[in-house]
Amino acid sequence: MSLNKQNIPTRNDIRNLAIIAHVDHGKTTLVDTMLQQANTFRANQEVRERVMDSMDLERERGITIMAKNAALRLPEEFSDHGTPIKINIIDTPGHSDFGGEVERVLKMADGVLLLVDAAEGCLPQTRFVLSKALESNLAPIIVVNKIDRSDARPQAVLNEIYDLFIDLDANEDQLDFPVIYAVGRDGIAKNELDDESTDLAPLFRAIIDHVPPPRADPNAPLQMLVTNIDYNDYVGRLAIGRLIRGEIRIGQDAVVCKLDGTQQKFRVTQLFGFEGLKREPIEAAQAGDIVGIAGIEGINIGETIADAEHPQALPPIVVDEPTIAMLFSSNTSPFAGRDGKFVTGRHIRDRLAKEALANVAIRIEPTDDPDAFRVAGRGELQLAIIIETMRREGYELQISKPEVVTRHDENGQLLEPIEQVFVDCPEQFIGVVTEALGRRKGTMMRMSNHGSGRVRLEFEVPSRGLIGFRGEFLTDTKGMGLLNTLFARFQPWMGPIPQRPNGALVADRAGAVTAYAIGNLQERGVIFVEPTLAVYEGMIIGENSRENDLNVNIVKEKHLTNIRSSTSDIATRLVPPLVMSLEQSLEFLNDDELVEATPKAIRIRKKILQAGKRPK
Ligand code: GDP
Repeated sequence: MSLNKQNIPTRNDIRNLAIIAHVDHGKTTLVDTMLQQANTFRANQEVRERVMDSMDLERERGITIMAKNAALRLPEEFSDHGTPIKINIIDTPGHSDFGGEVERVLKMADGVLLLVDAAEGCLPQTRFVLSKALESNLAPIIVVNKIDRSDARPQAVLNEIYDLFIDLDANEDQLDFPVIYAVGRDGIAKNELDDESTDLAPLFRAIIDHVPPPRADPNAPLQMLVTNIDYNDYVGRLAIGRLIRGEIRIGQDAVVCKLDGTQQKFRVTQLFGFEGLKREPIEAAQAGDIVGIAGIEGINIGETIADAEHPQALPPIVVDEPTIAMLFSSNTSPFAGRDGKFVTGRHIRDRLAKEALANVAIRIEPTDDPDAFRVAGRGELQLAIIIETMRREGYELQISKPEVVTRHDENGQLLEPIEQVFVDCPEQFIGVVTEALGRRKGTMMRMSNHGSGRVRLEFEVPSRGLIGFRGEFLTDTKGMGLLNTLFARFQPWMGPIPQRPNGALVADRAGAVTAYAIGNLQERGVIFVEPTLAVYEGMIIGENSRENDLNVNIVKEKHLTNIRSSTSDIATRLVPPLVMSLEQSLEFLNDDELVEATPKAIRIRKKILQAGKRPK
């Protein structure tokens, strides 16, 4: 331990490093080889194929949903003036319905490793997280990875990275970043492209030399900021965070400084450190360490764990408020139970209760209907991910139109949530984006254009206005725009925002969809279904081009008496259906409609299935 300028001790035995990478640029592989070379895998420890991101959904959507921790201990030859070194690796979420989570997990780090594929270069999805890391003043290290690729262009990619840093207003020190060239898969890192190297030593060196060691006083009273919550069936809720000062040990009395200002005493009974990809029970930890503490009733993100004698709260971090709610209920469609394993209201309730333990950003409330639950979360994407996970686990459920979470102020005035919206897009799209958000009651707050061809725009938009916006935004920006949101505050209701202008095409009877019927109806609007698909009365099979709903016979067979053209003739003229994803379906919904999600199908339906019973 050494003393720095302000006389706060520095822990030379630790480096806390956040890692940012676009999906597929080799983060998992690199962390694996780092762990292997650091000998963190013990012979008897099972090596999972994918260490950092294990959720299939993350892969598909190209995002990391939950930030995770790993740690490695460097071999003896890497030491800081003789002190052996542990590197804590903090994975960052690549997406931001989880914007708040990005800022939070970065609080555990002193440096950030940006991993970029030597052929693909910097992809825009990492810009938001990188900008937050630079704002937080973390020391960056660049790894240009996969230099073995035949199409690698490391020099050009490095130039792009410089441009990106300038575009993101990096300061002089940050622009002076060290660069490592790597073949993560083979466990090789180099300082210069033509260096000879057989291991990751240059990367380990760069981390030791450029990531500042934690500055923290182990002799001061304990303070730890809870920046993440994890959950597992054995230990329950685990509060994860970095010890800001002091020491924590098993058996010690401590307090939680709660967000509401109260204090809650507890005794430390279960303490974990990170080793490799696992949590391991430990006896004690000191300032600068990242730890997990289990067994604290009701602990929440943003709260401080403090010394019992000197309980001092750290500035709280605000967890993004739930802004969007949907009703989840048991499936009541005529096809209910056809392909799900878990179909009752109780199944859904138990599953949601479990979700709420692990997922701090959602809230679950019962309703008057014992089979329906109100689930509030951060945006549609987060809720869609829960639904998608449940489907894959074998659940069936139906979901109502996403609604904004509102509250009232002390004078009874209606308040609604407002978001900060960060748009990053090629400059030719400024007009369409501004106009689209304007219609949704958005106000532009800032625009920065460093002449790189891309601009960054910041808006304030009611959460309500963002429902369904993501899809529109991607279309408007031809897939080149990036959208991140961060909860800002509640403010007075901003008045009506135009809804879906079009009505639905609704099946008026059960049966199998025919090509003939589609051929007759496709001029009326956009068809969502394919021939032979089974439908029921009240199921929505398309969007009407007019504003009213239209009940249609989508299972109509061609009568032999009115043959005008051959079947094949009609078949060739069928417009391909618009197959709606879960998110698109949720965005499409009106108040009197539901999404039905089962392991095999996503359907949209009217709440009232029989045409005759629906209000005209
Ligand atoms: P992640 O999504 O960032 O975690 O990426 P992965 O570690 O899963 O790697 C994505 C793909 O890149 C996999 O097919 C890897 O085998 C491949 N890959 C990883 N490292 C390297 C490398 O150094 N060189 C090459 N050519 N491919 C690599």
